[in-house]
Amino acid sequence: MRSVIMHAPGDVRVEERENPTITEPTDAIIRVTAACICGSDLWPYRGIEKPEWPQPMGHEYVGVVEQIGGDVKNVKVGDFVIGSFFASDNTCEICQSGYQSRCVHAVPMGSIGTQAEYVRVPLADGTLVATPTQPAPEQIPSLLAASDVLGTGWFAAVAAEAGPGKTVAVVGDGAVGLLAVLAAKHLGAQRIIAMSRHTDRQALARTFGATDIVTERGDAGVAKIKELTDGLGAHSVIEAVGTQESMMQAIRSARPGGHVGYVGVAHEVELPGMELFFSGVHLHGGPAPVRRFLPELIELIISGQINPGEVFDLTLPIEQAAEGYKAMDERRATKVLLTL
Ligand SMILES: [Zn+2]
Repeated sequence: MRSVIMHAPGDVRVEERENPTITEPTDAIIRVTAACICGSDLWPYRGIEKPEWPQPMGHEYVGVVEQIGGDVKNVKVGDFVIGSFFASDNTCEICQSGYQSRCVHAVPMGSIGTQAEYVRVPLADGTLVATPTQPAPEQIPSLLAASDVLGTGWFAAVAAEAGPGKTVAVVGDGAVGLLAVLAAKHLGAQRIIAMSRHTDRQALARTFGATDIVTERGDAGVAKIKELTDGLGAHSVIEAVGTQESMMQAIRSARPGGHVGYVGVAHEVELPGMELFFSGVHLHGGPAPVRRFLPELIELIISGQINPGEVFDLTLPIEQAAEGYKAMDERRATKVLLTL
């Protein structure tokens, strides 16, 4: 089968690899319909993360169940399914409390690589959610978004306690930040401030429900948020970048007693204790438990209430994956969909 493999920073190739097979009775094999490139795939691409090379790539996927192990009961061959970027049993105490990405049996799908024609999904019963019927082709990008970026943005908005009467500030205008805007809107937030300096992303943020745009960043961005909130700061702040600057921008933009939902993978972020102490903010985040939200998100997409697939602004056949990585690295694309 064809599969995307990264050999070194900046070196992305599409190569033949052996088809996966069922290794545990709880596995399923799916034929991938669409995959995509994540902002986090750029960390190894830029040499900031150093995995073992060569590395199979990708952790977002939708597809059709091709084969199931003997113990799989919740999905059947032919089902169209979506799964999170962490396989999870959905039965352990951590899963039952809604934190499936930290399941005691969690398997990162990135270690398997979903930018490929076929994927082995461990713990299929807990991981995969089938759509009620085969989706229409135009719904596939939105369902694919649910696999990570939408689910992650959704968790960030929930963690930040976005809701009616709340002012929500979103730090980060990548796909996750933009879909966090959509989530905050759906959760009923009164005012949604998108922090972005790219006009195309600002336009998409407005489409998804942003009421205000702030182009300043860092301390100037914080000052602008304070100015828009009577000097208090936002009730809810979403951090969707993962740098020292973005994390501090998020914490400082929240009012005392406010909530910060952080989902940007925090690379070398260190929090100053005294500032954190006196901020009085709630911090809640981490790898999003996308599986918690999948049934609801699938329903919202299938019924046409949300259209997160709009976040994909470049679609390429998997053979051109290298161009997709390059386009995202150079910020010519927000989010790249790979067709198979
Ligand atoms: Zn679990």
